[in-house]
Amino acid sequence: MSQNTKPAVIYLVVPCYNEEEVLDRTARKLKDKMSALTEAGMVHPDSRVMFINDGSTDSTWKMIHEYCKKDSLFAGLSLSTNFGHQNAILAGMMTARECADAVITIDADLQQDIDALDRFLDRYYEGCDIVYGIRNDRKSDSFLKKGTATLYYRLLHWLGCEIKTNHADYRLMSRKALNALGEFKEVNLFIRGLIPMLGFQSDEVYFDVKAREAGHSKYTLKKMMLLAVDGITSLSIRPLHFISGLGLLATLGSFVLCIISINEWLHGLTVPGYTTTLIVTLVMGGLILISLGIIGEYIGKIYMEAKGRPRYIIDSVLWKKTPAKAEGSIQEPECREEGADFHEER
Ligand code: UDP
Ligand code: MG
Repeated sequence: MSQNTKPAVIYLVVPCYNEEEVLDRTARKLKDKMSALTEAGMVHPDSRVMFINDGSTDSTWKMIHEYCKKDSLFAGLSLSTNFGHQNAILAGMMTARECADAVITIDADLQQDIDALDRFLDRYYEGCDIVYGIRNDRKSDSFLKKGTATLYYRLLHWLGCEIKTNHADYRLMSRKALNALGEFKEVNLFIRGLIPMLGFQSDEVYFDVKAREAGHSKYTLKKMMLLAVDGITSLSIRPLHFISGLGLLATLGSFVLCIISINEWLHGLTVPGYTTTLIVTLVMGGLILISLGIIGEYIGKIYMEAKGRPRYIIDSVLWKKTPAKAEGSIQEPECREEGADFHEER
């Protein structure tokens, strides 16, 4: 496997949704970490920390603005409204690849251990195009989150999805891998499920997850459920096969019941059977509704895909662009001229 040239231009992509309480700490820690990595020759001085403001309603974007003004290490991208975590990191990755040799996505609350970055980079320099961050355990999660996450990963595997257990979106991707991801045009995004489909040389890095230092989780129950459904529908159509199987079983069952009923009628025993009728009606009604719901889920997704709406809309960009310096890149970065200086696009 061919090695990647050191030091590479690395962009940290950090999605932020109403993160004013934790952002100062995050910016400070990421700056320290990037300075240490630059000094150690692990990352190129043109590397950046790119904050993606996902339509925050608090002072998050104002804070990002300040960081960018003071220090060219920071870059900012503001989406026009809240597009959700998956779209926010996609916006960051697709923008950063213009100048970066590799991008690492990490949450704004720094629950993911930033000291693992060294190991991500080691794997990248050894030639990996994708490095997955895998959490060591789920100690920092609530009992409910731990249980549902375990069940969910089991369900995905059972449905035939090739997904890394306990891998969220802490991940390194080379520009080559990002360009491949850019070819996936789907609106219903479940990025962590798409990455294993890309192929390429990959490895895993294990890290500890800490508790959030400030603020609260931005993943509401509703957002988590929507992501979970997106995960299943974007990766597998096995639930539809399951419905066909269920339909076949129900048909066989009703065939047997028909024979029993005809037999009873022939023997003049047709009056009793109220309970059976009721149970069959209720069970079949329930199964039909669940099946329709599952089919409806897929139709809804097709509807959204057919519209092909943009997955994110960029409002403003704060970014002192500098072209990637690393040799051996597959493609020369296309950095726009006006990007050489700090500028704001609106
Ligand atoms: N996030 C986002 N848009 C959203 C929700 C979350 O960009 O609509 C970001 C959030 O700011 C954080 C990351 O996604 O950087 C993960 O969210 P959070 O830490 O709240 O999730 P949890 O760790 O509780 O699963
Ligand atoms: Mg978090």
